Amino acid sequence: MKPTDGLPASPRCLRLTGLGVGPGVGMGRVHVHEAGAVSVPEYRIPAGRVESERERLADAAERGSRQIATLRTKARGLPGAAGEELDYLLDAHQQMLKDSRLIKGVIERIGTERLNAEAAVRREMDSLADAFASMQDPYLAARADDIRDIGWRLIRLLTGTTGRPLSPLPRNTVLIAHDLSPADTALLTPRDVAGLVLASGGSDSHTAIMARSLGLPAVLAVPDVLRHARSGDLVCVDGGDGLVVIDPDAQTLAEFRARRAEFLRTRRNLGRLRDLPAETLDGARVTVMANVELAGELDTVHQCGAEGIGLLRTEFMFMNRPTLPSEDEQYAFLRAIVEGMRGRPVTIRTLDVGGDKLSEALELGESPNPALGLRAIRLSLSRPALLEAQLAAILRAGLHGPVRLLLPMIGSIEELRQVHVIRDRVVKRLRAASVPLPDPLPPLGVMIEIPGAALSADTLARHCDFFAIGTNDLIQYTLAIDRSDPAVAPLYNPLHPAVLRLIQFTVGAAARAGIPISVCGEMAGDPRLAGVLLGLGVTSLSMSANNIPRVKQNIRRLSLADAEARTAALMALDDAQAIAALADHLLVNRERTAEK
Ligand code: PEP
Ligand code: MG
Repeated sequence: MKPTDGLPASPRCLRLTGLGVGPGVGMGRVHVHEAGAVSVPEYRIPAGRVESERERLADAAERGSRQIATLRTKARGLPGAAGEELDYLLDAHQQMLKDSRLIKGVIERIGTERLNAEAAVRREMDSLADAFASMQDPYLAARADDIRDIGWRLIRLLTGTTGRPLSPLPRNTVLIAHDLSPADTALLTPRDVAGLVLASGGSDSHTAIMARSLGLPAVLAVPDVLRHARSGDLVCVDGGDGLVVIDPDAQTLAEFRARRAEFLRTRRNLGRLRDLPAETLDGARVTVMANVELAGELDTVHQCGAEGIGLLRTEFMFMNRPTLPSEDEQYAFLRAIVEGMRGRPVTIRTLDVGGDKLSEALELGESPNPALGLRAIRLSLSRPALLEAQLAAILRAGLHGPVRLLLPMIGSIEELRQVHVIRDRVVKRLRAASVPLPDPLPPLGVMIEIPGAALSADTLARHCDFFAIGTNDLIQYTLAIDRSDPAVAPLYNPLHPAVLRLIQFTVGAAARAGIPISVCGEMAGDPRLAGVLLGLGVTSLSMSANNIPRVKQNIRRLSLADAEARTAALMALDDAQAIAALADHLLVNRERTAEK
């Protein structure tokens, strides 16, 4: 069935707007993902991990049984027959956690299908529950509910979450939710998901970045969407314009088909730029690289003509899994990416979880203010074994291609010194064990994303090999605006004079120290803002791969002298509207300049 089959007789055709964060146009059926819902990670395990997965299952079953025992105590306290009946049901559930068909089936699947425990529970639960549900006998058919009850209890215990499942989703689904974590977003399959609409979120939030990486048409910060959308409704999404139409009429559907055709046509045309250099009209060469969030992105990175990976966010190795990856596992992941880049540079950033990015494997506690809490390098320094394993894996990956090592959220020289000490210790250990390492060792760089770091850039530059400016956080911390909070999204302004001055000062500090500098925040992937960055002296940009063609096209239509002059003029202004108007001139469209 096509998503547009069965149009209602009188469509509501409700137009809602939000932040368009993942370009593209999608149409499909709504799936409302309720608050507290969880997704079920699925991954293959090596033979050596079968026993430990079975132990995780046994542990979850044991904890589940204790939960039910508590519930039974409460049930027995209820008055009358209700308590007795409930106790009887809970007793049956407790038995199912012991030696039931469900548990036996899961144990078997972990071994034969080499699946992680939660995925094995999901599959066994679905197959058993379906079998019971199709039975003629109503008593037996009702057992399907018990199986699902117990299955979901186990999944929640195994994933450390509460709530209901997210996957699998049928084809042409438009997922609508209040919020979705970056880890849950990473589990969406672009083949099935035609769009993503959230009531919350900011344009540079990690969920938005993940949606862009997956190439999903996505609109965030649509406050009323959950009031209007119902599962099964037809919906159209334009992630470029930030437009959502619930229950569209035939005319709107035709309009969105035209929008989609236009989007695909533009993308095809931009594809022709792939092998052309990002060079301004007056001959200044700019390096354009890709930010990578997921291991599966390399094809897109190559298709979009990236000259390397300017930011590899390693969080994907730690998300949606209950245990930490070993040094060898991380090395294998990184090696595959470095080799996949065929000699092009790869900048690997150490773990940056905390804030809005969480990892169940790390069991981070609640933070009163996550963005200002134990995040990124602070977390790594508080768990030296974690950092040592990561540094070892990154250094070893450097044997297979040009690698640079990048540290997120450095706030002081002291933190940088501590990393140097740990890195030297790791190198000594690896050399003592005759583990081959690249010579020279990968350069060590610092992300400038805290205003204090930008203002200390002169000093930091003397202690590291390169800078990468993370404008997403730099804007967040300079302007005191939570990048994921839609309530303050209109205030999140990359062109704020304070932000531009911090970038300008950092670029100057790098030039004085003679170290390379790039920008890898979302600002770099916006053609208009990239023009401002050029004007500030930045000649290396890293962005979501899908943004590379448009940014490259604009660079090829710009003159550097013009960008510098306009940016200098813009830096002298203090009125936000005038600054924005001047920046608009750095977006050169076809009508104003002949295509180069
Ligand atoms: C940034 O802050 O600009 C950045 C690139 O890092 P992240 O978005 O992962 O915080
Ligand atoms: Mg950051």
